[in-house]
Amino acid sequence: MNKNDYTTWLEIDLGAIENNVRQLLNLTGVPVMAVIKANGYGHGMVEVARAAEEAGSTWCGVARFEEALALRQAGIKTHILVLGFTPPGRVPEALHHDISLAVFNPDVAAAYAACALDHGASLKVHVKFDSGMGRLGLFPEDGLEILKQLASLKGIEVEGLFTHFARADEPLVDTTGQQLERFTALVQSVEQQGLRPRWVHAANSAATLYFPQARFDLVRCGVAIYGLHPSAKAPLPPDFRPALSLKTHLISVKTLPAQYGISYGHHYYTRDSERIGVIPIGYGDGFRRRLGAEALIRGRRVAVRGITCMDLCMISLDEVPDAEVGDEVVLIGCQGEAAITAEDLAQEWGTINYEVVCGMARRIPRFYQH
Ligand SMILES: *Cc1c(COP(=O)(O)O)cnc(C)c1O
Repeated sequence: MNKNDYTTWLEIDLGAIENNVRQLLNLTGVPVMAVIKANGYGHGMVEVARAAEEAGSTWCGVARFEEALALRQAGIKTHILVLGFTPPGRVPEALHHDISLAVFNPDVAAAYAACALDHGASLKVHVKFDSGMGRLGLFPEDGLEILKQLASLKGIEVEGLFTHFARADEPLVDTTGQQLERFTALVQSVEQQGLRPRWVHAANSAATLYFPQARFDLVRCGVAIYGLHPSAKAPLPPDFRPALSLKTHLISVKTLPAQYGISYGHHYYTRDSERIGVIPIGYGDGFRRRLGAEALIRGRRVAVRGITCMDLCMISLDEVPDAEVGDEVVLIGCQGEAAITAEDLAQEWGTINYEVVCGMARRIPRFYQH
């Protein structure tokens, strides 16, 4: 890659992803499902899946069936689970590509089974339980009956049971313990009936780190494999490394006179004359249309001036008199001693780091390094 040929790009450190997966494997001693929905949290789904597989992750978790298909088409050999809803019309492809589906509705399970039977095969499913998330899933209290029914259905093989936590990233809140109790009671009754499947799983990244008793047979980690903190209250251990950097080049430098309005709406006016640079990044790239972001140039932190446009924004260069056109500008990542994290930007934008990285647009080229 010749960086000079690009205005704006993402650098994805696959070595960091491999490191983070290995950290999780060592820490937990159970298999790790790399959760790579939403284009691998913006990092690039296939490349992340390959790195995770290389590092020893034996499962991939996705939200949509199309994502699972794309992984198989790219040659990913791990188990794959679609965590969300899959229309029954997809069952033949699921069988052909050995993709496991989530089930949270007995009628849909029956439709899956009928379709699989037509193909003379058996579909692998994981039954999802709502132990207190208020989202998808059967109530654990109904679970035993339903699992008995599913066990008698030809065309379906229940290979997993799972649940999801609402507040595991707030380790001091007691709802995770309550969810865990409700789910564990189900797992025990299922065990007593001899119906326990191979894969029982519950933990996202935060629960993996902060609720070891939630690890069961498999942990489903997204944010941690990218080296991002589950939350300020549930930070990663120090050996994890962030994988994503967002970079651009300075494409224009001008000295504007005093009282000069900058960008749409003139939300910023220069006080005295001010050196202003233009960088080619905007909300069309997922760099939000907000005031108050910052950038790194020549190892120094500078303010974005005025409102972010679709493809461009302006930065103050008064503090960096040596800055010149062609300089590299970092929006997420390190430069010299300085750093801006996805967490910093999330705070600035009033959101979470997950949304910052998922928002990185397709049009930004992604460069992968080890
Ligand atoms: C996205 C998701 C995960 C991963 O969550 P992280 O907080 O990123 O680790 C795990 N399980 C389910 C069901 C999910 O939807």
